Amino acid sequence: MKLKQVSNHCYAVINEKNRLGDANSGLINLGGGVVIDTQFDLPHARQMIEKFSTVWMGMPKQVVNTHEDADHVLGNQLFAGAEIIAHRSVPGRMKEVADPAEIKLLLWAIRFALVRGILKYLHPGVLALGQQMAEDFDFDGIELTFPTTLFEDRHALNLDGTEVQLIHVGPGHQMGDTLIYIPDENVLFAGDVLFRACTPIGWTGTYAGWYKTLDLIVKLNPAVVVPGHGPITDVKGVKEMKAYLEYVRELAKTFFDAGYPSVEAAKKIDIGPYANWSAPARLWLNVERAYREFRGEAADAPWDRKKAFNIALKIAKAQGFPIEF
Ligand SMILES: [Zn+2]
Repeated sequence: MKLKQVSNHCYAVINEKNRLGDANSGLINLGGGVVIDTQFDLPHARQMIEKFSTVWMGMPKQVVNTHEDADHVLGNQLFAGAEIIAHRSVPGRMKEVADPAEIKLLLWAIRFALVRGILKYLHPGVLALGQQMAEDFDFDGIELTFPTTLFEDRHALNLDGTEVQLIHVGPGHQMGDTLIYIPDENVLFAGDVLFRACTPIGWTGTYAGWYKTLDLIVKLNPAVVVPGHGPITDVKGVKEMKAYLEYVRELAKTFFDAGYPSVEAAKKIDIGPYANWSAPARLWLNVERAYREFRGEAADAPWDRKKAFNIALKIAKAQGFPIEF
């Protein structure tokens, strides 16, 4: 984890491994101090707080959660007494998608050879994901801690005269997707509507909705964009991710029209220019998401995550991708 200053008053911590759960966080050292996203587990959250403490005395008084995913909210409890701000959908969605109980159980169970044997047979992708997460994360002691201030479309903070705009743009990656834009600093924290140097995942919403959000960031034209995952960038990184989504959606349409199931399409799609992005096997999720649209299904229908990671593993093997999520 590395601390980077991105403007006069904005900082980011970047989780350089850039695998599933390696989310970035931000700090604005104005007002009472504002933290953006709180990491996937308590050890990472504590490390983040320690990094931020080198540029901000005391605990920040406000926290913003960019959306409901576990890797952005599970450190919330360490900010006792802080105002925690998020889109109004976030508390309900956190109960659905951010409860660490299941993943904690998985990481405990895979220490036993018998369990690993059974999982390898039934859910090989889940086993591989569990083994990857066990290398980096520890979900002990987490108590889901919900936002205390909810907003609808927009919310503004005034930090000693510096305006911070919270703009709800979900669903795109998740329902609660919120941009944090600080015009005076020319900085935008994008949350997971932007992945950089790793393959994006979208759990809710449509391609069109996601494009619209990426176009909005380009229009705001910040000098610095901090993605939810991956290295710091600018609007170039935003345009590049949109190009990836367009590329995958277009190829998915060709395979859909030719009658291929999404798994077969993902085995065959040449990810060409994006082959150096980490976790390329997430491709199937993007293909399947496009297929849902082509089939006229609800964009926010829940995912069977076990199945998704089992298929992702299959795709990785078929395509010769590294086994990483
Ligand atoms: Zn994330």
